[in-house]
Amino acid sequence: MEYEREPREELLGLVRSLAERVRVDSELGRPLSWLTRVDPAVAVPKGDDRVRALADVPGPIPSAAPAAGKPGRLEALREELEGCGRCSLGTRRRCLVFGEGNPRAELVFVGEAPGADEDEQGRPFVGAAGQLLTKIIVAMGLKREDVYICNILKCRPPGNRNPLPEEIAACEPFLIRQLEAISPRIICALGSFAAHTLLQSEAPITVLRGRFHSYQGIPLMPTFHPAYLLRNPGAKKQVWEDVQEIMKVLRNG
Ligand code: SF4
Repeated sequence: MEYEREPREELLGLVRSLAERVRVDSELGRPLSWLTRVDPAVAVPKGDDRVRALADVPGPIPSAAPAAGKPGRLEALREELEGCGRCSLGTRRRCLVFGEGNPRAELVFVGEAPGADEDEQGRPFVGAAGQLLTKIIVAMGLKREDVYICNILKCRPPGNRNPLPEEIAACEPFLIRQLEAISPRIICALGSFAAHTLLQSEAPITVLRGRFHSYQGIPLMPTFHPAYLLRNPGAKKQVWEDVQEIMKVLRNG
């Protein structure tokens, strides 16, 4: 099998992933979310000192000295991730897709994982689904450079298959620190995997979308992934309704 892994390597990767997840959950002062589902309504508020301090707490990942400001913190995190092999996807990628956009963005879009085009270019949402996302952003009266775009996973799953739980567990701590560094006013979760991971919910995206939830005190709007819209253009109306809710919050400062 092309993607078969040595059992020992797989076990070590899983242990490393769980240890990292426990560390982050502990620092956030929240229950072990990989064992228990957490109601976002009782999540730690954004202003909590433990959350603010997260990016400054040295972790087991070798890291560069923390740089000041949002751009510096993001860049330091990007450097940490270079060469990452915390899950098996690291051995198969062409490019790591960290994320891009305004490090001080008020709005962050979080998708699922890079596809073939993204893996090739090292940039998020540059394929057909990305072009549709760009159109949505423009329709909101914004530019791609105004927002920040990233994914739950930073490396492409083979054949664009769904992310595995151990891959999400390995990569999510980096997303948590990425969002903490940007500290946006609103997060838009694109598709089921992003919504389920960020909200620690297993409810269908059809149930979650259309209203704001809370991620660490930040309003989070789940909506359909642009790739889903390419297959189901009829759902564009619902996505437009969702982004209009986002625009209302952004406009009301
Ligand atoms: S998907 Fe994330 S955890 Fe896995 S190798 Fe890539 S950057 Fe590392």
